[in-house]
Amino acid sequence: MTTEQTACQKCGNCCKQGGPALHGQDLARIKSGKIPVSSLITIRKGELASNPLTGKIQPVAVELVKITGTGRQWACCCYDAESGCTVYADRPYACRLLKCWDTREILAVVEKYTLSRFDILEKGDPLVAVIKDHERICPCDDLGFVQSNSGLLSEEQKNELEKRVRADLRFRNRAIADFQLNVRAELFYFGRPLFQLLQQVGARIFETPAGIHLGWDK
Ligand code: SF4
Ligand code: SF4
Repeated sequence: MTTEQTACQKCGNCCKQGGPALHGQDLARIKSGKIPVSSLITIRKGELASNPLTGKIQPVAVELVKITGTGRQWACCCYDAESGCTVYADRPYACRLLKCWDTREILAVVEKYTLSRFDILEKGDPLVAVIKDHERICPCDDLGFVQSNSGLLSEEQKNELEKRVRADLRFRNRAIADFQLNVRAELFYFGRPLFQLLQQVGARIFETPAGIHLGWDK
């Protein structure tokens, strides 16, 4: 006889699949430091991610700020294999809604009421203007197009992407030096580097004396 699940058994499987996106309900937890900014990563609008509503890897429709993974793994950085969630009393809204046995509530807030970097940063933070410049110079809103056409890109399109990858790295290096940012802070302020996002859609990365070169399969 099987028993229908009606409560969380704290197995941690959902936490191992990745940290949650943050919502408006989490803002006070971030501002008070209960969810530290150093644990956050930005998924920029247009980045490719698994969409729980469709089950597909597709561009995110809005910017998301998530709790980051552990090292190179997606498992939530707040998850401890021995003790479970290390921020349980202050866990994000999405974690409170998640019931693996009934996903209606969590699916209802996918890409809805979510926080962006601009909700989290103070209006006068000098990095607000820097982030806006980065979005203008190094957008990633065409990754869905690149994903669908990676074998069909024109030389002009490939060159433009390569230029943008180099501009992205120059921009980050300058901001890291100007604002003394560590890697975690960089991932919150600017998301993942463009060359990593393009690797997801089929680009191969080569370091050359002139800078990063992108290779594409035909
Ligand atoms: S919600 Fe489900 S998967 Fe997540 S910890 Fe609880 S029982 Fe495990
Ligand atoms: S914050 Fe806690 S409950 Fe939420 S995914 Fe991370 S470890 Fe799990």
